[in-house]
Amino acid sequence: MKGAVIHGARDVRYEERAEPKIVEPTDAILKLSATCICGSDLWPYRGISQTREPTPIGHEYCGIVEEVGSQVTSLRPGQFVIGSFFASDNTCPHCLAGYQTSCQHRQPVGGAQAPMLRVPLADGTLVATRDVPSAELVPSLLAASDVLGTGWFAADAANVKPGKTVVVVGDGAVGLLAVLSAAQMGAERIIAMSRHAPRQELARAFGATDIVSERDDAGIARIKELTRGIGADSVLECVGTQESMLQAIGAARPGGYVSYVGVPHGVELDGQNLFFRHVHLHGGPAPVRRYLPKLIELILARKIDPGKVFDLTLPLEQVAEGYRAMDERRAIKTLLRP
Ligand SMILES: [Zn+2]
Repeated sequence: MKGAVIHGARDVRYEERAEPKIVEPTDAILKLSATCICGSDLWPYRGISQTREPTPIGHEYCGIVEEVGSQVTSLRPGQFVIGSFFASDNTCPHCLAGYQTSCQHRQPVGGAQAPMLRVPLADGTLVATRDVPSAELVPSLLAASDVLGTGWFAADAANVKPGKTVVVVGDGAVGLLAVLSAAQMGAERIIAMSRHAPRQELARAFGATDIVSERDDAGIARIKELTRGIGADSVLECVGTQESMLQAIGAARPGGYVSYVGVPHGVELDGQNLFFRHVHLHGGPAPVRRYLPKLIELILARKIDPGKVFDLTLPLEQVAEGYRAMDERRAIKTLLRP
């Protein structure tokens, strides 16, 4: 089969790869219905994280079970399933506490920008739908695999509740779906920080009530102005840079909550500043598995349409163009059809 392989900075190739096989008896092999490019794939693409050797890339997926290992009990070939970027057993103490991305037996799922994918710990990792969903729901179900689940965790970890004032820092796909998630959780006011017109429009469609285009101190000042000098109850940091983190902490009210779900790159926090800010901090790799059943239900009931974040769809063989489009911010998120 052919799939995406990253060779180095700005060098993603569609090339021959070994077809995945059952390695452990707990594995499943999926035939992917769709896959996509993540904002976090841009870190190695831009050379900010190093690629030491050619590596199959991609970690968002949904599709049909092709084959299962001999110890897989809850899945069978032909089922439509969704999983996330860490495989988890869903039975250990960390999984039972809802932190499947810290599973004692977690394993990364990689190389998903391909027609076929091996998923370890299939029983714990994959969630099956009752029937094979209609094709137009596939983009939204794919979004649940990472960006929606991560946006949902951002809102949950920042204690979003009915009637609260929420700020979302970051207008990438995760930030936009964090807006959707906060709206679903009943936030009264959702302030999206964005300076790009098409993303502002999508943020509004997902439930943003206000847009702030200022950044840094001016951005914090504007949030304060919009909240009568108080700050936001919940701030969802969906970028992972020093600037976005400081902006998030600065926008929260004393006693407020800041979640952070963007992989941090160069973020350093000053203990004294944190001490006197009085904020709750909670973040990390989103335990998407915790939320998958609920998110799938909302999508199948057509209550949410997170698939709208995909503003570019390409055949998998054009994966390199998909990366370029996201790198140059011509696309919010690229869906790839194997
Ligand atoms: Zn576990």
